[in-house]
Amino acid sequence: MSLSDWIRSFWHFVSVPGCVHCKKKLSRDEEVFCPSCYSRYRNAKLRNCAQCSEILSRCTCVNDYLDTHLVHRLIKVIRYVSSLQDVPQNRLIFSLKRENREDVARFCAAELADAIRAKVENYKDFVLTYVPRRPKAKRKYGVDQAQILAEHLSALLGIPAVCALRSLAKAPQKKLSATARRKNASFMPRYGVNLSGKRVFLVDDIVTTGASMGSAAFVLRGMGAKEIVGVCFAIAYKDPYVPFEKPAYKK
Ligand SMILES: [Zn+2]
Ligand SMILES: [Zn+2]
Repeated sequence: MSLSDWIRSFWHFVSVPGCVHCKKKLSRDEEVFCPSCYSRYRNAKLRNCAQCSEILSRCTCVNDYLDTHLVHRLIKVIRYVSSLQDVPQNRLIFSLKRENREDVARFCAAELADAIRAKVENYKDFVLTYVPRRPKAKRKYGVDQAQILAEHLSALLGIPAVCALRSLAKAPQKKLSATARRKNASFMPRYGVNLSGKRVFLVDDIVTTGASMGSAAFVLRGMGAKEIVGVCFAIAYKDPYVPFEKPAYKK
């Protein structure tokens, strides 16, 4: 553990974190959200998948892009609602990407572990790897959130996590068109990693078009992986099976 890691853990220990959404100070037994934001988050989690009608954390549907790029099952917890910035689930995802909060990463990983246990019977036969963040972004925010999720998941599920890929992306995906994202999202295998015959969970924080995950999956297949199941905390792609996006519940 480096000095900065020690300082961060010490700081977290002495400071009480605030709710990721409303910033209200949390009490010792509250995690990530205050009770009222947590209940809004739980309601948002009840959003159903339009393909299989299960709630998202119990559905493994993929979008067309992933389906044609070797990822035929995708575990997810929630939908990222791009039209509504200020909702608890979106704040949680911002925090995961930018704030390097241990409690946030642990919370998201626990939600994913629950979804994996429910939907992948033989999950113990898998190894975990992740879609690595652009090196420049990792330096900027001091965190690769997909790597941290994979490490927590490894501990929670009792399966190994391997660092298999290196990112060659030049620009942030966020500002690019779908075609440009596909070009930008490129990865190369890390030297000495062998995935021959392995089943692989490929972890990312959010799947927007599937460009990064799909391109990472191709490289993993080239490294010998026999099956790739995507794992992401949130999906942001438009649901092609409903004519418009509507909230899952009315307050
Ligand atoms: Zn709150
Ligand atoms: Zn579904």
